[in-house]
Amino acid sequence: MPRGAGDLSTAALPHEDLGAAWRRARPRPAGRHLDSAATSRQSNRALEAAAHHARHEAELGGYVAEAAAEDLLQQGRSVLGGLVGMAAADVAFLESAQAAFVALLSGWRLPVGARVACLPGEYAPNIAQLRAHGLRPEPMPVDGVGRVDVDAFGRQLAADPPRFVHLTHVPSHRGVLQPAAEVAALCRDAGVPLVLDAAQSLGHVDCDLGADVVYGTSRKWLAGPRGVGLLVARPAIAAQLVPVLPEPEGVPPMRAFESGEAHVAGRIGLIVSVGDHLAAGPDRVRERLAALGRTTRALLDGVSGWTVVEPADEPTATTTLRPPAGADVVATRSRLLTEHGIVTSAIGPERAPGEMTGPVLRVSPHLDASVEDLEALAAAL
Ligand SMILES: *Cc1c(COP(=O)(O)O)cnc(C)c1O
Repeated sequence: MPRGAGDLSTAALPHEDLGAAWRRARPRPAGRHLDSAATSRQSNRALEAAAHHARHEAELGGYVAEAAAEDLLQQGRSVLGGLVGMAAADVAFLESAQAAFVALLSGWRLPVGARVACLPGEYAPNIAQLRAHGLRPEPMPVDGVGRVDVDAFGRQLAADPPRFVHLTHVPSHRGVLQPAAEVAALCRDAGVPLVLDAAQSLGHVDCDLGADVVYGTSRKWLAGPRGVGLLVARPAIAAQLVPVLPEPEGVPPMRAFESGEAHVAGRIGLIVSVGDHLAAGPDRVRERLAALGRTTRALLDGVSGWTVVEPADEPTATTTLRPPAGADVVATRSRLLTEHGIVTSAIGPERAPGEMTGPVLRVSPHLDASVEDLEALAAAL
């Protein structure tokens, strides 16, 4: 007999210890937070580390406090670089994923009209940045859920290689995991650089896949503070980037892309959050997040006519739901928040106009979510 939603709702999620530890480690939520693809909840340790640095700034002076934190910042660059298979010298702290992408494009100074392969469902602000830098986005071949068709992409790459490939690892409008390792292998063979948008994948799925550039943000699945992002580039790419003001001899060239004036306390909060992620065990984190995604889809698909977009077993924690005829996604998202205290996101088609045909409700639980939270959402829908 197939497993019905009833069986699933009583089935335990894997690594309940992780869920409990994650819950214990942070402030009690005011409601049910199912919106980590927008921003996660920080741990007390991360909040306190950022506050501690801000206090140090008041006590010592901001520049003295930053110099005193330099070893920690450097350890952080090392750990963050490690998450994507690169080194501390390859990492630059930026203010957001978008700021990191802009820093990359500004530094790369590619010729106007250069072609960039990307998903038809690419995040609209990324397309806008490519165009603003004079580049020409061209669609990669995908299947019916928007996943890269690896064989067809291999042929496209061989026939007419673009200047670089930009791949959004997990899109923001859909919890589909792209075959980034396969794409990276094809790019490497073709000698075409791969830039990975890991805004939705750092802390969520494995990002050590052989990309040449990886950029992302602190506040989503890594559960760090807002206002911090990172750009990580292999030395061969870093050597092609021309900063406005180069660093002096002996300083890693990627450091030129860090803004001198920055929310240093936020960087420290992120470093503590990444420490939490590593201590939890990235493999276990991924297993529980994937199970949360499966359970979300099993519990919500078909409820009151809402239908799940992702394949049921997609190994991500993000689920999107298409509304039944006549239902308003923005109004539903507000009703869930104000009447039930459930935090989700309404995503309009302008987020990925090349792929979305209408709005979706996005549900993205982190490790501390319970089956009961998801059942409460099903009941509220
Ligand atoms: C959130 C997001 C971004 C932008 O991240 P910011 O930190 O807000 O700049 C880029 N790409 C994807 C896929 C995202 O989900």
